[in-house]
Amino acid sequence: MSEVDHSKIRELEHRNFRNDDFWKEIPAWADVSRGEFADHKWQLKNSIRKVEQVEKVLGSKISKEHMDDIKAGQKITPMNIRITPYIFALIDWRDPLSCPLRKQFLPMGSQFLEDHPYYQSDSLGEDVDSPVPMLTHRYPDKVLFLPTTICPVYCSYCTRSRIIGGSTESIEKETYGANQKKWDDVFEYLSNHPKVEDVVVSGGDAFMLTPKQIRYIGENLLRIPHIRRIRLATKGVAIFPQKVLTDDDWFEAVQDIHKLGRSFGKQVVIHTHFSCAKEITKWSQMAMDRLFQAGIVVRNQAVLQEGVNNHVDEMVLLTRQVGYLNIQPYYVYMHDMVPGCEHFRTTLKEAEELEKAVRGTTAGFNTPTFVCDLPGGGGKRHVASYEYYDEENGISVWKAPHVKPGELFTYFDPIHKLSAEAQARWKDPQKRQEMIDAAIAVVKNQE
Ligand SMILES: *Cc1c(COP(=O)(O)O)cnc(C)c1O
Repeated sequence: MSEVDHSKIRELEHRNFRNDDFWKEIPAWADVSRGEFADHKWQLKNSIRKVEQVEKVLGSKISKEHMDDIKAGQKITPMNIRITPYIFALIDWRDPLSCPLRKQFLPMGSQFLEDHPYYQSDSLGEDVDSPVPMLTHRYPDKVLFLPTTICPVYCSYCTRSRIIGGSTESIEKETYGANQKKWDDVFEYLSNHPKVEDVVVSGGDAFMLTPKQIRYIGENLLRIPHIRRIRLATKGVAIFPQKVLTDDDWFEAVQDIHKLGRSFGKQVVIHTHFSCAKEITKWSQMAMDRLFQAGIVVRNQAVLQEGVNNHVDEMVLLTRQVGYLNIQPYYVYMHDMVPGCEHFRTTLKEAEELEKAVRGTTAGFNTPTFVCDLPGGGGKRHVASYEYYDEENGISVWKAPHVKPGELFTYFDPIHKLSAEAQARWKDPQKRQEMIDAAIAVVKNQE
């Protein structure tokens, strides 16, 4: 008998797509047929929106201890609960503590850490660089348009937790849903700014825009002569593939905008957000097949997260698997320094190591760029392009020559990952300031 070559099996793991009736393991959904589960309306109607529903749907499948921990999480997290049955059923309920999907969408109180002293609710400075409501204009030729503040799922690590998904016990928010009134101001601003060629339509999530709204936004943007590229940003492909498969009105709206763009010689693409291979199933493959056949390019943007994808094997598997689905891995982001996320953050060193390990494992055009979106609005920078990195104290200093010439930016590693001595230094506000000043001085002295 020949030995099984496990390394070979692992090499091809990315071609396996889960296709069992996994949702039937959730007591409340034991009798839900494949046809019902495939229906986007069923998915929407049965989405988990309240902590009580978690308990109700799972019954005895979750221990009291874990349930209490999830309830405690709701008192701390800046994000409300919203999870599609698809993702909820993919959570490993035998080991919820370490399941990467549970971590992302249903935080446990026991896993939160104290926020970093330099966290900011608008860490990237999106509101500062906003010339009209719902628009951030930071780079010369590309803009970020946020037409909605709602999503089909809420990620507990959301970089826009300040505006997305409604108030929670820990934070009051001024969300605006999908407020169409101000969209025309955005179109007018863009018409008057001929340098802009590229519009990211994000939010919130483009999955929540109605077909009519998608057409309205798409047609208005495509009619502006200098706009050449539109990206619809949605986590939907990853966490709600049933909508791509069965919401024909929505699909046709996206398809029509894509065709209209093509007739003008312009790009309309989708940017999605898969974080780990556990989110990928046969449903993802079917949804991607439909988009691919319609000629719609899809790219992936992941966020580097502790216990979700900060391991080489997991990152390589994710990269290969999305590539296999005809999704181009575009970015892996360092975690933004926003509230309620310290337990998710990784060090810059880890990001650099992962970048090194992933490069070379697959086609170069399917290899993501690892970036740090600089706190304070410096924009996205390659993780190895810092000016100086004090690894011991977790302080990196950066420049953004084109976006903010002459300015220096700092990013800080999560304190709990530093040595005991460094952690002690961070506790002392004066020492903390000295360390940061010293790091900045190194860069200034190089100039
Ligand atoms: C990320 C981002 C963009 C798009 O940047 P790319 O690097 O082209 O993906 C545009 N505007 C803002 C404000 C952004 O944060």
